[in-house]
Amino acid sequence: MKKYLLPKTGNFYKANLHCHTTYSDGKKTPEQVKALYKSLGYSIVAYTDHDILIPHDDLTDDTFLALHGFEMETNEQKLWEDQPKTCHICFIGLEKKNLTQPMWHRSKYLFRNAPNYKHLVKFDETLPDYERVYSSEGISEIMQTAREKGFFVTYNHPSWSLEDYSNYMGYHGMHAMEMFNGSCIVSGFDDYNPRVYDDILKGGERIFAIGGDDNHNSAPDNSRRSDSGKAFTVIKAKNLKYRTVTKALENGDFYASEGPEIRELYYEDGNVYVKCSGADRIVCNYDIRCAHSVFANNDIPVTEACFKINKKAKYFRITVIDMRGRRACSNAYFVDTLAD
Ligand SMILES: [Zn+2]
Ligand SMILES: [Zn+2]
Repeated sequence: MKKYLLPKTGNFYKANLHCHTTYSDGKKTPEQVKALYKSLGYSIVAYTDHDILIPHDDLTDDTFLALHGFEMETNEQKLWEDQPKTCHICFIGLEKKNLTQPMWHRSKYLFRNAPNYKHLVKFDETLPDYERVYSSEGISEIMQTAREKGFFVTYNHPSWSLEDYSNYMGYHGMHAMEMFNGSCIVSGFDDYNPRVYDDILKGGERIFAIGGDDNHNSAPDNSRRSDSGKAFTVIKAKNLKYRTVTKALENGDFYASEGPEIRELYYEDGNVYVKCSGADRIVCNYDIRCAHSVFANNDIPVTEACFKINKKAKYFRITVIDMRGRRACSNAYFVDTLAD
């Protein structure tokens, strides 16, 4: 029986799940971000300014959905500028009405322009100020608290953060991690993170992989240094309603990309089938020492592949690489969830 790994029905929506505006350290207003991303073919932006949860529902219309969230950093010491390690996590509200910021501190942890908007933040006044602790336990507590409060939790740019195996293997509670972070890649960091994804999966966490720009828009929109439109998540959902889209996030009905499209992905009788935009290679990777590739035929791009899944593998995941070297990455699919 066919099992659709990306839903059979619905529409593909291009989404940026990590974004900064003038509410923290971005250069564009939320309205300007919407205009730019609509011009780049996006339907969804998650506004994840540093430290403050501010809704931008007024920007939502029939063709655009503004998700609300925030990014929270926990530093090894006081300032990340001076210190090697930091952990950044984005939270996206799963319900439109979920506007209470968890883990709020009344006087600390506000970045750049955020203090100007703290009066707009809603928080539970009965709770004490939340102190952030940089440790496996401290980060896991942040991830799990946000999950319990109804947020989609993503672990961001481990390379830029200078975090390694000894750090992220201790983090428990994320829904997803950034396979691609557009702004980090543009500024020269190695935040294409397949190795980190495999490490975390092999450690036993069943998480998804997203792409996000983390745009701050310091460079002109049409310049090569622009951090918009570089890494994105393509979500397949029935419509653009807030909860429909966040349910698709929870289900893993998406893939991450720098450009290529995965148009169809399904599993049948031990095989996985991929249809995609024209590519140089389509690759199937596993948790074991085994990989399969289908290549373009000279200059004729490859647009589909069928891989017989290795029976010894716990999971597989698909990567599509286009002629410019840009990648699209599927989530990992665990074989024990696919048995007929
Ligand atoms: Zn960050
Ligand atoms: Zn960010």
